[in-house]
Amino acid sequence: MVDVNAIGKTIVDKVQSTHGVSGERTCGKIIYSGDGIIHISGLSDVKYNELLEVQGGFKALALNLERDSVGAVLFSGEDKVRFGDLVYSTGKTVQMPVGEGFLGRIVDPLGDPIDGLADIQAEEYRPVEFPAPAIMDRGKVNKPLQTGILAIDSMIPIGRGQRELIIGDRQTGKTAIAIDTILNQKGENVICIYVSIGQKASSLAKIISTLRNRGAMEYTCVVCSTADDDAPLQYLAPYSGCALAEYFMYHGKDVLIVYDDLSKHAVAYRTMSLLLKRPAGREAYPGDVFYLHSRLLERAAKLSPEKGGGSITALPIVETLAGDISAYIPTNVISITDGQIYLESELFNSGVRPAVNVGLSVSRVGGSAQRTAIRQISGQLRVNLAQYRELAIFMQFGSDLDAETQKTLNRGAKMTDTLKQRQYLNYSVREMIVLLTVSQSELVDKIPEKKMTAYNEGLLDYIHANHEELLEKIDPDKKTDDALRAEILSIAEDYVNCSVGEDSHQAQSDAEAEAEDAEISSDVK
Ligand code: ATP
Ligand code: MG
Repeated sequence: MVDVNAIGKTIVDKVQSTHGVSGERTCGKIIYSGDGIIHISGLSDVKYNELLEVQGGFKALALNLERDSVGAVLFSGEDKVRFGDLVYSTGKTVQMPVGEGFLGRIVDPLGDPIDGLADIQAEEYRPVEFPAPAIMDRGKVNKPLQTGILAIDSMIPIGRGQRELIIGDRQTGKTAIAIDTILNQKGENVICIYVSIGQKASSLAKIISTLRNRGAMEYTCVVCSTADDDAPLQYLAPYSGCALAEYFMYHGKDVLIVYDDLSKHAVAYRTMSLLLKRPAGREAYPGDVFYLHSRLLERAAKLSPEKGGGSITALPIVETLAGDISAYIPTNVISITDGQIYLESELFNSGVRPAVNVGLSVSRVGGSAQRTAIRQISGQLRVNLAQYRELAIFMQFGSDLDAETQKTLNRGAKMTDTLKQRQYLNYSVREMIVLLTVSQSELVDKIPEKKMTAYNEGLLDYIHANHEELLEKIDPDKKTDDALRAEILSIAEDYVNCSVGEDSHQAQSDAEAEAEDAEISSDVK
């Protein structure tokens, strides 16, 4: 007869003896080291994603748990670690120190400051990998996150707790949109985290100096891994940034996190996976590359009021090649996020900046968070612009246009000009309401072609100088009534009339100056 109880007891004893007492560290030996990858034998109790300590004070991350060995990637000491070195388990996954002290600082993905200033006092440590908030713990996205960019806030509104992808080819102003959004959070009680993944150190230095000079570092932390860093550090950076963001979110704060950019993140992960000899899939990315980004972006959320009501708004950036949004990583991230802002090189080069392609850009949840007055006037904007674009393509070759078509084309061109916006020139919600009201009125017919952008900027200066009370009267959370609309238009008309006069005067004096120049040059001859 077999004694079942005795067998059970033996199994329990065996399991307990192999796992040892908690707190004990096991130790293994490196049996392979190369390209930042180590294989270790003798580490039997290591968990996936556990932090390992390598002889010489280096750190590594356990990623491949195999039958006889553990595959890990080194965070540092790639050229110093040798065959036979000892490796200790720590029993902990990678943790990021977090706390208020991180605001205004520049740190590496392990939380160590790299700005040459004092050490940062961590309030606690958070695991870099953390489960996303459950559905029951989430609230509705109902508060806007203003980017200060007219084209985005009017047509692709972003709500706090949303994940909005910024996608486009290289040099199309992707980073510029993210940085403008961070700058616009001044005084809005939003904490910003800018995660740089594999960017050139020189571009990063420029971004940091912009944030510093414009007073945005007070509420911002930069987590950076540059192109010179090893792939594991680039891989870790967004998760570390997210851990820091979560600290603030679970303390009831609103956070904006920018991942610049996830294409480079995927490439870093691919490098690690190929070196670890994991099977390669489409475009040589490993099979779990979707999970790589989905588990990161799912952590951005709006918490319910019972959970403190904090939020993480994520702005991931993805770079495309020749506008191909159907490549592997772009399609993955598009399907994970709640919408995308699609930037086009063609628009960028033709001077439409920010180069937002309105037709291909969407925001799936931000609409409910949009301010009432903006929603009221921007409702027709998308349709009007689409009609204009269609007509403009159709009319490219036509010469004689009837008056009505000419008018639609004119208005469309002026609307497109209104949406052009210089970098670092953020509009407040009230200013946006003024600009949208004017650009959709008959007043635009009086403004000369190609002058719309300059007129808008001039108009806002004029209002700030002479009619500040008008801006105070506008309530973004209420519909703009006819009386207020008429008042906005009458002030705009005053400005248009006096500047059109000035313009013709200017044109006249320019012509006179030119004639004088011609006379002088003929005299010289
Ligand atoms: P990369 O692919 O190199 O990361 P990117 O898509 O992030 O590029 P940016 O670096 O943001 O692009 O912008 C490219 C250039 O365009 C910069 O020199 C920037 O100053 C300029 N730029 C961006 N937005 C605007 C704008 N709205 N008006 C004028 N210039 C702009
Ligand atoms: Mg960029």
